[in-house]
Amino acid sequence: MDGGKRVWVPHPTDGFKLGRIVDIGSDTISIEPFDAPGTTINSLYDRTFPAEEYDNKECDDNCALMYLNEATLLHNIKIRYMKNMIYTFTANILIAINPYYEVPDLYSSNTIKKYQGKSLGTLPPHVYAIADKAFRDMKVTKLSQSVIVSGESGAGKTESTKHILKYLTESWGTHAGPIEQRILESNPLLEAFGNAKTVRNNNSSRFGKFVEIHFDKKNSVCGGFISHYLLEKSRICTQAKEERNYHIFYRLCAGAPDDIRQKLKLAPPDQFLYLKRGNTQYFCGKKTQKNLSDARKSQQYLKLGSLNDPVLDDVNDFGVCDAAMKHLGFGDQERLGIYSLVAAILHLGNVAFDDNSDDAKGGCSVSKSAEESLTMASSLLGVDKEELRDSLISRVMQATRGGMKGTAIKVPLKCTEAANARDALAKAVYSRMFDYIVDMVNKAIPFGDSANYIGVLDIAGFEYFQVNSFEQFCINYCNEKLQQFFNDRILKEEQALYEKEGLNVKKIEWTDNQDCIELIEGKSSGIFDLLDEESKLPTPKYDHFTGEVHSRNKNHFRLSVPRKSKLKSHRDVRDTEGFLIRHFAGAVCYHTDSKNPLIVKLFQGAESTAGKLNFISVGSKFRKQLGMLMEKLRSTGTNFIRCIKPNTKMVDHLFEGSNILSQLQCAGMVSVLDLMQQGYPSRTQFSELYNMYKKYLPPELSRLDPRLFCKSLFKALGLDDKDFKFGLTKVFFRPGKFAEFDQIMKSDP
Ligand code: ADP
Ligand code: MG
Repeated sequence: MDGGKRVWVPHPTDGFKLGRIVDIGSDTISIEPFDAPGTTINSLYDRTFPAEEYDNKECDDNCALMYLNEATLLHNIKIRYMKNMIYTFTANILIAINPYYEVPDLYSSNTIKKYQGKSLGTLPPHVYAIADKAFRDMKVTKLSQSVIVSGESGAGKTESTKHILKYLTESWGTHAGPIEQRILESNPLLEAFGNAKTVRNNNSSRFGKFVEIHFDKKNSVCGGFISHYLLEKSRICTQAKEERNYHIFYRLCAGAPDDIRQKLKLAPPDQFLYLKRGNTQYFCGKKTQKNLSDARKSQQYLKLGSLNDPVLDDVNDFGVCDAAMKHLGFGDQERLGIYSLVAAILHLGNVAFDDNSDDAKGGCSVSKSAEESLTMASSLLGVDKEELRDSLISRVMQATRGGMKGTAIKVPLKCTEAANARDALAKAVYSRMFDYIVDMVNKAIPFGDSANYIGVLDIAGFEYFQVNSFEQFCINYCNEKLQQFFNDRILKEEQALYEKEGLNVKKIEWTDNQDCIELIEGKSSGIFDLLDEESKLPTPKYDHFTGEVHSRNKNHFRLSVPRKSKLKSHRDVRDTEGFLIRHFAGAVCYHTDSKNPLIVKLFQGAESTAGKLNFISVGSKFRKQLGMLMEKLRSTGTNFIRCIKPNTKMVDHLFEGSNILSQLQCAGMVSVLDLMQQGYPSRTQFSELYNMYKKYLPPELSRLDPRLFCKSLFKALGLDDKDFKFGLTKVFFRPGKFAEFDQIMKSDP
């Protein structure tokens, strides 16, 4: 770091700012930014990074940068993104930035053809390049493959997944059967039932999935299989401000044909309480009406009422979803059955209760005005109306005396308890219906002749909000597992490449996140086990559970008590109880207080078997599912796609540097750079090096073949053997050494 050198220094919104060193202090460096001459910024040594020589030079693979650091990584993807090059490699990892508009020709059938059979790196970075690599690896190694797509909500995971599925089915389908079509049609169907509009994404997947495309011995598509994870259930009964319930509810109200509409007593969405919690203000405004085109003012669209959303087309989308179901083999009766359940949930949501605590009988009763809703709900669910009423407003308790079962007695419920029972029923019906739909899809795409598969994982990335609950806990646990897997694989692959190129490099060491995983899933004192233990107590309590987590994991490096003093500055999270976990991507405070859904969630998984409640926590179920998924991933060859959301406005060509930097950090991309720093991160083909430098050298040297040319050149320059290694096709440099070499070349006459 000399005076005058161009460097990147941290910047609060851009991520980094480019400037020139003007002074070097003992702790900090002073920089004069290029865009603000005359001013200076002080920056810590370890947060100041050398910049590339040319501002506008970009490269397909970050590993080809001379200086490989957070700042050059960020800058490289920025200039590419601004030029519509949304994909960039870091070795074999693909970084994909959501363009938020249709980049011309990016996904055409022509483009698909172009990528078929081409080695990674011979064409510009693309999801297709990853899909093709997976296919070729499967063909050559006879091993199933997986593609792990990660990123925060709205980063483009689901779209990337669809492009991969399309690439594989279009390239390697047999075109004889409808199987490929069905695999693709499963998307609109699952999205109708599992996606919703959120503030982060107008079409946000509220579940994770692993989609396998199966291939027969001749490497043709022969079927598929979908596994799904953690469908968000809270949304079925309540939505945050400006968010919607699952698409299907609105689509059914908007698009169902008249006979179905009458049969199911459908009404505009604003008539159903489950559809308007939290978002009435937004959707009822004049804004909506003004944006309605004439076509949308037609009768059809008026069925949407005041909850109509101008950016979504629920009428048309109902048709798409209905057609997808037909193609997937759902008959008229099956479709009507599903729509009946959707409508039943809507009517159930309108069942309100009156407080009878002043009366002699106590408890509560179904409000007079809600009798009609109860009738509809019971008839659509196919249960007796009075039985449904009873199960909502009372609970059966069986007294036991001296180990003997006594008579069952009905205990009346309070209004709020009855409302909870109603919501629990709605959630249980919906989530089982979702399971059923996925099962039906899987039956429609059987993979009997499978030899191998390519699986694509589309699951929420590491996340933290101001208030984090059990949902975030599960997602982040999953991401810890995936991160460990990522490190394992990337390390392995990097070392495999060194071996393939005959480099003879000693093993790279890496700090593991096993301790964090252990804290969560460890036997007896792990958080999941403690949660299960708590749920088995006669009266589970959040504060007791929280206390157990801390006392059973004293002095655990990954665990802390949240700093209350600090939290108290936010009004929303006052009197917080919980724990703080230091995840690989940052510390997250999980709240376990009573207003928090944790304990409620815990009992959501309660299964009623033979009248007895059998508590299987959502956590245990997810832990088991995740274990199975990890086993699958471990048995496959893996590819990683890291999706990046460029801005929170959801618009094109807007690069919010600082946000993007933290996504790269969460995605483990910065750790990959650290990892690369221990190895030989810069690598170039001999031929490329030869072309770059032959003009600086006497003609007799440039007559040599590229490998020999490079060897002679390095020898002549007296480069230190420790700084580079010659492979079979490439020369590998230690961090920063490629840049040094470049300097020598350009300064030596
Ligand atoms: P995620 O699954 O990560 O939450 P999505 O895949 O649903 O995000 O993407 C959110 C939205 O961003 C999409 O609905 C689409 O409008 C836009 N989008 C994502 N990827 C692309 C792409 N490759 N090209 C164009 N638009 C995209
Ligand atoms: Mg998604």
